[in-house]
Amino acid sequence: MERILKEVLDTNRKYVNYGQVASYIPELKNAHRDDLGICIIDKDNNVYKVGDCETKFTIQSISKTIVLAMALMDNDWIDVFSKVGMEPSGDPFNSIMKLETNDTKKPCNPMINAGAIVTTSLIKGATPQEKEERMLKFFRRLAKNDNIGINYDVYESEKVSGDRNRAMAYLLKNDGFIDGDVEEVLDLYFKQCSLEIDAVDLARIGMNLASYGIDVENGERLISERVSRMVKTFMVTCGMYDASGEFAIKVGIPAKSGVGGGIMASVPNSMGIGVYGPSLDKKGNSVAGVKILEDLSKKLNLNIF
Ligand code: GLN
Repeated sequence: MERILKEVLDTNRKYVNYGQVASYIPELKNAHRDDLGICIIDKDNNVYKVGDCETKFTIQSISKTIVLAMALMDNDWIDVFSKVGMEPSGDPFNSIMKLETNDTKKPCNPMINAGAIVTTSLIKGATPQEKEERMLKFFRRLAKNDNIGINYDVYESEKVSGDRNRAMAYLLKNDGFIDGDVEEVLDLYFKQCSLEIDAVDLARIGMNLASYGIDVENGERLISERVSRMVKTFMVTCGMYDASGEFAIKVGIPAKSGVGGGIMASVPNSMGIGVYGPSLDKKGNSVAGVKILEDLSKKLNLNIF
């Protein structure tokens, strides 16, 4: 397996030159465009790594999958889906447009920023601190890594440059899709995006989703089967932003990307894959990361369709 991973990494290294690191959140500019790493964790708990698997980066939009799972575990599903939809938007992840033009004004799905801000607002806790602690604990548990924490430089940077998210959140409050203090919700959203992880953490979380919420190491149930199924379904339909359709055709694996350069993929009953490559295409997906997953899907016969 390691030989295949190395081959796939080497063949696709050239694609890092076809993109740029994210710069709209100033702190993300510090990433190294050439970094590239792949980690696979399979159902027998074998861990395979090549390239920059220990390099830390922020989870960004990949956090939306985990916060969705939390929102579904904390609330009645009817309540969750009365506030966020189930349809791909076809628009960029940070688009505000459909909050006005949709009949219901409801965010299309929980994988775009507007929908994710809603799911973040649904995390339970008596105080903002308690919500943050619960969130952190859940991420650490799913990744089996107690060292996961917030990168405060990225968090500050998100906060000062996050006016588009702020505008959406106020609109969502005005239209009754979020309750309570908007700044508090945004604060938690910026924190979840700023969690620092590596490719191994992504592979581990991907494997936990692939196993329908059961920890493959000790058999512990982390997420219910139905919730893990729902999260993977959203990953297929909306996980790669407005490139999700093309990704489903070419790769055929539930996956979620983030502007930090990560992609988490989850092959049902088989493996979790974490890819890191901060050079992004125009839609915000890791250029080399997408190519790597395309090759892995072919070589290892992973297409779920
Ligand atoms: N924190 C980023 C934002 O809100 C997350 C976006 C992403 O990874 N696509 O804009």
